[in-house]
Amino acid sequence: MGLPPVDRSTLWPFEDGEPGEFYYQRYAHPTGVAAERELGELEGGEALLFSSGSGATTALVLALLEPGDTIAVAEGCYYGTPTLFRELGRWGLEHVEFDQTGPPPDAVQLIWLEAPSNPFLTMPDFEAAAAHAAPVVVDATAATPIHLRALDRGADLVLHSATKYLSGHSDVLLGAVVTRDQERFDRLREFRSRSGIVAAPDAAWLLLRGLRTLDVRVGRQTETASELARRLEAHPKVEIVRYPGFSGLLSFDVAGDAQEVERSTKLITNATSLGGVTSTMETRHRWEGDRVPENLLRLSVGLEDVDELWADLEQALPS
Ligand code: PLP
Repeated sequence: MGLPPVDRSTLWPFEDGEPGEFYYQRYAHPTGVAAERELGELEGGEALLFSSGSGATTALVLALLEPGDTIAVAEGCYYGTPTLFRELGRWGLEHVEFDQTGPPPDAVQLIWLEAPSNPFLTMPDFEAAAAHAAPVVVDATAATPIHLRALDRGADLVLHSATKYLSGHSDVLLGAVVTRDQERFDRLREFRSRSGIVAAPDAAWLLLRGLRTLDVRVGRQTETASELARRLEAHPKVEIVRYPGFSGLLSFDVAGDAQEVERSTKLITNATSLGGVTSTMETRHRWEGDRVPENLLRLSVGLEDVDELWADLEQALPS
């Protein structure tokens, strides 16, 4: 089946004097709804698209929490998430970091897990989180629904930076939230329309295109990343490899100058972000400071040949 055309209309005529399913783009548009249906089916819930992963995070916490509420956020998750929560502290939102491999702290109103965490690649204790009274959000950007259906593991809401694996070609900024809870879904959709943190039709269409190849891309990226993790572990200049056994994302610490390594690759692009068809690698210390080791490199494996990627890494690693 071909992809539906992009409908860029911002308005649709009323039907017999009444607004129909689509009437103004900020509320809903056909391309967005088509992409939400496909993502919802993959995750086993109802999806909503946002202008970016960070936009989805902003909407989720502002729509579902109250001033004075506290979020327990996974230590070592995407650094932008606690940074955003700190920003929202001015509006009375509190947050504490905790080790997601164990139970979340008491007396919090939202639990924020990341599966696997970026760039430490830990997996959450889903059962311990589900046993807590507070609702559980899982940022499953790196796992994708190919490897994890977090709603089946007790999550109340799943969040994606669809900028990454879901869209998959490093050419669109997009976020998504998926849930089975009708009340939270309605509240989020209402907040999205009011705040305007919405996804454009072209972005939604690029997600639809990306989803057509998601399983093939993620399957191949997992195969290649598993092999590279194995070879890196055996390399004398690699101190530690972090890899959860699936997905195309891994991180490792080098004995030597990590910046020299990131500058020396030829096939692997020295760039930020992850989840694209082209491999990218960078040190994370430049962004996250002492939150990460200075010699940590994060590698997002693309679709290149595994031996060519290994040859590139080998020539870049300290001898
Ligand atoms: N969540 C994770 C795990 C991420 O890696 C990122 C971005 O790097 C985000 C959320 C934020 O997404 P976006 O860049 O689409 O705003």
